[in-house]
Amino acid sequence: MASIRPFPHDTCKQCATPLSHALAPGPCGHCLIHPPAQFETHAIYRYQGAVRDAILAWKLQGEDAGVRWLVESASPYLKGLLHKHDTLIPIPMPLSRMRQHGQHHSADLCRLMAKKVACHWDWHILRRQGEQMRQSALPAKQRRKNLRKAFMLNQDYWAKQHDTRGKLWLVDDIITTGSTMYFAAKALRATGLPVHVLSLSKTIQGD
Ligand SMILES: [Zn+2]
Repeated sequence: MASIRPFPHDTCKQCATPLSHALAPGPCGHCLIHPPAQFETHAIYRYQGAVRDAILAWKLQGEDAGVRWLVESASPYLKGLLHKHDTLIPIPMPLSRMRQHGQHHSADLCRLMAKKVACHWDWHILRRQGEQMRQSALPAKQRRKNLRKAFMLNQDYWAKQHDTRGKLWLVDDIITTGSTMYFAAKALRATGLPVHVLSLSKTIQGD
């Protein structure tokens, strides 16, 4: 059976890049020079082995049993991290992909996680504008260029709906280069609140 590995504990607090025990919680060399828009980043699993298999089966074949199991297993972790007044916000998908596949994975993930801790989740707060190519097919430099104006705070909605008692968490299923998260977090900072990031998984160089 393929392995399931939790994400390392010693990381850069801001971007979750693994660091040696002595250097954690950073900031790492990259965040020191280019601080990310988010205040902190948490990843639950390493994106490899059975975790990668479960996420791919979910996204490509619509088989969600593996991902549900991963979220269920992370319940104690989620209960320690999240508070009932927190709001989980999915990374918005391009509309064309939602229309084509009828799925919104990060929103589904928010729903599953929010259920574990009885907190809020809300997919109206952040909007995607324009249409972008599938990011995983592009080199890092091109991704950044495409994503720069991709996200926008839904100001009217935010003014009416927000709950300031808890934290704002941007949620995704996987962080690779971190550029999607960076630009989404930057847009969400228009709320004037710090942005926290939670990902089901994150890649580690060399995995
Ligand atoms: Zn960092």
